Amino acid sequence: MTSSEILFEVTDLSVSIAETTIIKNVELRLKAGELHGLLGPNGAGKSTLLKAMTGLQEFQAGSILLRNESINTYGSDQRGKAIGYLEQNGYIHWPLKVQRLVELGRVPHLPTWTGLSDKDSASVEKALKQTDTWHLRDRISTTLSGGEKCRVLLARVFAGEPDILFADEPIAALDPAHQLMVMNCFRQFVDAGGTAIIAIHDLNMAARYCDKLLLLDKGEMVARGKPDDVLNEENLKSVYGILAKIRRDECNRLTIHSYSLIKN
Ligand code: ADP
Ligand code: MG
Repeated sequence: MTSSEILFEVTDLSVSIAETTIIKNVELRLKAGELHGLLGPNGAGKSTLLKAMTGLQEFQAGSILLRNESINTYGSDQRGKAIGYLEQNGYIHWPLKVQRLVELGRVPHLPTWTGLSDKDSASVEKALKQTDTWHLRDRISTTLSGGEKCRVLLARVFAGEPDILFADEPIAALDPAHQLMVMNCFRQFVDAGGTAIIAIHDLNMAARYCDKLLLLDKGEMVARGKPDDVLNEENLKSVYGILAKIRRDECNRLTIHSYSLIKN
């Protein structure tokens, strides 16, 4: 994989649910080596867009290409191997041990009726350690805290060693240290040649870790580019309805210094 290779491409995408248009003419390109932050208010369409990109949500117009081929031409195993998807507020249905749940991330790689190889087990161990869930491996997953469950579900995604990762609000339930740890995991993932897009509300984290930001509002992509191009006071005012002060910290990092609601 070369660092500028486009691994995933969405062109002129529109998605309607129950005759309401949720996503309108969205375009995006995900290149190897880049971490993309997907921003936008509640209801903007972030989750719907990510779901459509996985092939799990029907779309009415446009194209979604995985390595230059339509997403619909891939079988579910091929898609599962290439794309890791962490859904928003992922639910754990069965009281499996954490280790077993994370091992399920290897399923797209396993020939039928075979168990885990040493390589599969090594990938599972690495994913558990990366997400700081190794110590939870013998716990019953349904009994974990919200943040622990989120990290375990992320471990399952990492265990699959995809090339492309879509994560829907992966740090929303995490404490500050685990937020940093998980953002570092995404950074390492793309630095190793993958590409990722994460829906995120923490604008400072997005500015600090992401190479590119995409700002969605009412189903339309209203701004895109480097954090400096997207996180400006006008965009935050028009999209989120907040008055923000944007500064640089001592490390020259963009920070949303303070913000308040626009008074009517
Ligand atoms: P976000 O993730 O940006 O908060 P979503 O993609 O979850 O937004 O939702 C975008 C809009 O689509 C919302 O108005 C939501 O109510 C609507 N929507 C999403 N899924 C459905 C559905 N299955 N049926 C009806 N409306 C939906
Ligand atoms: Mg959402």
